Amino acid sequence: MTLDADWAERWIRRTADAVVDRRDELTELDREIGDGDHGENLVRGFRAVVAKLDARRAEAEEPGASPRLVGDVLKLTATTLMSTVGGASGPLYGTAFLRAAKVTGHPEIDTRTIVAMLESALDGITARGKAEPGEKTMVDAWTPAVDAAERAAGEGDEADALRAAAAAADAGSTATIPLVATKGRASYLGERSAGHEDPGARSTALLLAAAVEALGEENA
Ligand code: ADP
Ligand code: MG
Repeated sequence: MTLDADWAERWIRRTADAVVDRRDELTELDREIGDGDHGENLVRGFRAVVAKLDARRAEAEEPGASPRLVGDVLKLTATTLMSTVGGASGPLYGTAFLRAAKVTGHPEIDTRTIVAMLESALDGITARGKAEPGEKTMVDAWTPAVDAAERAAGEGDEADALRAAAAAADAGSTATIPLVATKGRASYLGERSAGHEDPGARSTALLLAAAVEALGEENA
């Protein structure tokens, strides 16, 4: 299996489809503990990314175009999310993709690179948002995802690492339900934030599930 720029592009396009499909659910989660815009924010952001990918694809078909790297796709995603998503999640996901792009700017994407990509994404989110695990944010999906990918990479390949990350993010998101938010807009609710899943943790699980789905679409 090779994880190349085409995989990265399928990943981002699938994420766009997923946030469109699950827009109402993400918005509803954010209505419960935030301001009800998380679905809209991500749909706007990822639609803008897809438009840029379409434009870039047309350019890449011109003779003499240089080959693309995973890092190129992730960097385009980062800068577009930062400039089109107004909410907290725009800069957070933007920084995550920017850091992820930095470690994937070369042709050979092996299992270690995939783990480094996930670690870098989490580092970016933490640098930007200063949240720690347990504060009921997207960090509660990313942290177990990174840990699981690191463990899976010990025995498996990059697909195993991504699958482990996606499963752990899904469980991590569900595990935010009983938590009391102490970062972001949901923290304004204090104890009343308990009993609701964090929208950014859920969108993180969708994002990582899309990375796995993109593996199997090579010949689709
Ligand atoms: P906003 O809160 O500005 O309306 P969104 O609704 O798009 O932005 O995103 C909300 C999500 O952002 C939350 O569910 C949470 O996961 C994430 N978030 C907010 N603040 C932080 C932070 N400081 N660190 C990590 N994630 C955060
Ligand atoms: Mg919101």
